[in-house]
Amino acid sequence: MKKISVIVPCYNEEEVIEVFYDKLTSFWREALAQYELEPVFVDDGSTDATADKIRKLLEKDDTVRYGSFTRNFGKEAAMFAGLELCSGDCAIVMDADLQHPVEVIPDMISAWEEGFEIVEGIKSSRGKEPGDHSLLAALFYKIISSQTGFDMRNSSDFKLLDRKVIDVMGTFTEQEMFFRALSFWTGFKSTSVEYAVQKRAAGKSKWKSSSLIKYALRNILAFTYAPLYLILFLGLFVIVIGAWLGIDAIITYFEGKAVGGYPSLVILITLSTGAILTSLGIISVYLSKVYGEVKNRPRYIFREHN
Ligand code: UDP
Ligand code: MG
Repeated sequence: MKKISVIVPCYNEEEVIEVFYDKLTSFWREALAQYELEPVFVDDGSTDATADKIRKLLEKDDTVRYGSFTRNFGKEAAMFAGLELCSGDCAIVMDADLQHPVEVIPDMISAWEEGFEIVEGIKSSRGKEPGDHSLLAALFYKIISSQTGFDMRNSSDFKLLDRKVIDVMGTFTEQEMFFRALSFWTGFKSTSVEYAVQKRAAGKSKWKSSSLIKYALRNILAFTYAPLYLILFLGLFVIVIGAWLGIDAIITYFEGKAVGGYPSLVILITLSTGAILTSLGIISVYLSKVYGEVKNRPRYIFREHN
């Protein structure tokens, strides 16, 4: 019997853990009884009763795998920890809040049985989101898609990964992981199934606008070098302006009307100082990322796991 892991990152989800578990297991009995189910709950350093709730599940169901972080390491870390803990022939990653409908799982599994190694859940509608989030999200996905070469606009973390992909992703040592893009990057055979984003079963979204911006920036920096190239072009641009002003200065000198020169001097100085400082700033941001990678700390720390 093939074993399928379902990885669930959980951060302060005390209200939905049991609902999710009941929904998943009852659906499994109904529709997927020919597969063995391995639920993998990763508690991302929750400060509420999430860990207790998961441990309670463990008592009545010994197929449950469980890991708990010492603190909040973020959803990316929790998903990768789940991949580390799981033992299935494939793994499905999904949110705890039932926004990813379990009804899509059979479609994912049949695509996997057809030979696809990555089955991507594609949002057919983004569900209800505050306006600014959607706008920000659109911009973010535009940048990321243009850099990775994959259309990631409607992609999500709801995915099925074959054991081959799980094993390969386990060898990645980078600190800044962007789950969605990295699984694409491996180049395994992939397809997608559509799903409609559901309303959150209970509790609140863990995202604030500020953390969304941080998330977007982090992933852009992890996946593109475009800003560094931008510096190069900015530099060239300043050189062209400088050359043009220089030629202009020489011409006016020979025309005998070279008096002022002050405005062009000011323009030149402010432009080039601005360009230099911006460039240094961008380089520093990348440097800080390199520093973070070089330290090579563990990406997450388990308080306990089974
Ligand atoms: N999550 C997590 N660590 C975090 C934030 C979120 O493990 O630091 C989990 C959360 O418990 C949920 C999933 O990631 O299972 C998606 O989070 P949420 O529903 O808050 O995000 P949204 O659906 O609003 O994008
Ligand atoms: Mg959610």
